Amino acid sequence: MTRKFFVGGNWKCNGTVEDVKRIVCMLNNGEVPCPNHIETIIAPPYVFIPLVKSMLRTDFQIAAQNCWKGKGGAFTGEISAEMLANLHVPWVILGHSERRQMCGETDAIVAEKTAYALNQGLKVCLCCGETLKEREMNETNAVVCRQVGAVAGKIACWANVVIAYEPIWAIGTGKVATPAQAQEVHYNLRKWLDCNISPQVAQATRIIYGGSVTSANCKEIGSNPDVDGFLVGGAALKEEFIAILNARNYQH
Ligand code: PEP
Repeated sequence: MTRKFFVGGNWKCNGTVEDVKRIVCMLNNGEVPCPNHIETIIAPPYVFIPLVKSMLRTDFQIAAQNCWKGKGGAFTGEISAEMLANLHVPWVILGHSERRQMCGETDAIVAEKTAYALNQGLKVCLCCGETLKEREMNETNAVVCRQVGAVAGKIACWANVVIAYEPIWAIGTGKVATPAQAQEVHYNLRKWLDCNISPQVAQATRIIYGGSVTSANCKEIGSNPDVDGFLVGGAALKEEFIAILNARNYQH
């Protein structure tokens, strides 16, 4: 079973209209593998989604960086999954560690959001990852399996889920996981899916790595058998994102 290489660019809370136009122009001019080989999502801040959507090449898909956990209504400041679906935004990133840590999103909330978004027809890039303290206490696998397990308790179908393993100590720090560290966690997550969901889901589900991915380290990390792509933060705002999309040597 071949899993299509998957790369996401998470712009986080960055940019102005001028920056957006410049970055989209850079993306549109980039030489990248054809969509038979790679699936690419771009996650701008909500307010820029319509602008990015109107300008972005059609072989790249749009993602939101979050959404509300249920039906819209009296939830000031929130954006619902229905709204994203209504705007034809196909993807949403959920459970990013910055939201877990800074916005109080628990495993249960992330699971609820994931189930609701999938039910609205969105595809979900589901993030998991351990703190440095948890890694040092040898709890990495327990943490990521607990985070993914919470979601497993709420959803019946994994076809529209990509799992992003993002060690928190590697996000935005320049401290990247070694290829062996990434492979070990991805392998264990796949084994967990095999034992707890099904061998088919384990084989088919893309597990991507995030945490200080750059043009310099993407080839080595991406050559691991269980690493199916990347979720990229800082480098997604720069020209080097194109090099990351070319981490595997597919023909254009
Ligand atoms: C991220 O925000 O998901 C991320 C991986 O950030 P960075 O690439 O900057 O570490």
